[in-house]
Amino acid sequence: MKVLIVGGGGREHALAWKCAQSPRVREVIVAPGNAGTEREPRVRNVAVAATDIDGLLELAVREAVDLTIIGPEAPLVAGIVDAFAARAQPCFGPGARAARLEGSKAFAKEFLQRHGIPSAAYRVFSRDSYDPAWLRSQRAPIVVKASGLAAGKGVVIATSVEEADAAARAMLGGRFGEAGHEVVIEQFLSGEEASFIVMADGEHVVPLASAQDHKRLGEADSGPNTGGMGAYSPAPVVTRAVHERVMREVIRPTLRALAADGMPYTGFLYAGLMIGPDGAVNVLEFNCRLGDPETQPILARLRSDLTQLCEAALAHRLDRIEPQWDERAALGVVIAAAGYPESVRLGDSIEGLEAAEQRPGKLFHAGTRREGDRILTSGGRVLCGVGLGHSVREAQREAYALIEPIRFEGMQLRRDIGYRAIARERRGSGSDRG
Ligand code: AMP
Repeated sequence: MKVLIVGGGGREHALAWKCAQSPRVREVIVAPGNAGTEREPRVRNVAVAATDIDGLLELAVREAVDLTIIGPEAPLVAGIVDAFAARAQPCFGPGARAARLEGSKAFAKEFLQRHGIPSAAYRVFSRDSYDPAWLRSQRAPIVVKASGLAAGKGVVIATSVEEADAAARAMLGGRFGEAGHEVVIEQFLSGEEASFIVMADGEHVVPLASAQDHKRLGEADSGPNTGGMGAYSPAPVVTRAVHERVMREVIRPTLRALAADGMPYTGFLYAGLMIGPDGAVNVLEFNCRLGDPETQPILARLRSDLTQLCEAALAHRLDRIEPQWDERAALGVVIAAAGYPESVRLGDSIEGLEAAEQRPGKLFHAGTRREGDRILTSGGRVLCGVGLGHSVREAQREAYALIEPIRFEGMQLRRDIGYRAIARERRGSGSDRG
């Protein structure tokens, strides 16, 4: 079979690499891909942008693609799955209506509240309805979010109501363009975050291995929010008890409610969760696709054939399949470009790739492009090195050894990816599930 992967980041490199390992797959096309997918055996890049829905559909038809998997949220929110369905092209992901769970935080919050799924108390404001007096009656910290897609940048954790007011006014005033024409202001939740990702077929659901990422640029989770500076799987915070609770209180009710609301959900569904000190689970956000960089360690552990899982989902047969996981832990370290996340510098030449690729583990490319025989940085997050090991600590050691030879001007990475999980391992209270 022929598979099309839409997107060009680290997540899509991992998807393409995983699909290309399947004995059923003759070729994987990546649109547009990066310098890493270009070098992957049985993988070919085609220069069609991930947002060019007409171009992607034309590509899928022309190449007689058997299965398309969408990486990023923008084409899903824009309706790529509906466009492919209209031409009977198998495409794994939610339709535009269900993708609003990610595309509009105001929609997601209203949905969660209406169906009694646990999430922070909130209010939604537009420029006309904004009520600074209400805000002044609240207590800090408080969280201000642009409702629309803002590439992970539209969230401000304000430590005072003045800061929250300034953030809300900036968003409503156009700081994130359309994405900020509505803002969600919600209660601050404390605890430990975890990503919980499932595959759904409209009715049945299969959880993927648990994972956790590090969103902040700086060590000890300090500094500005980023798309994610590293991730690991499993996430020890997701114990068996937490897993059961998330399935019971969040995942199953969400999928039932989506079906009841007339938009049965097929695709990857990512719940960003806050696990409170008492074990309480709250939804911070939904994403309608896999997370980046969580995908890289998760797929490094997946033993089953991903194309089979996606096809089972498209056939509404996920109840008859159970993914198999490598027992080992996996940990991915992101190397970001100079200036990330504020003002990314592009075009720096990357050294040491070949030496890194000789080492155990897997190096995924994200923002890279080839120019002649040089590989240059072409995005904020440039590479993600994934190591495996019998503990998160061992996986961490392998990941850092893998990326050790890599050098480019201004590169940024954290040296402490996985520290919370490793502290838990030391305390001997690790996860009892995969
Ligand atoms: P979101 O895109 O909504 O997941 O927000 C991005 C990040 O902001 C999350 O990963 C959390 O670290 C943080 N965050 C979002 N909402 C809250 C909240 N209600 N309380 C505490 N932290 C939050």
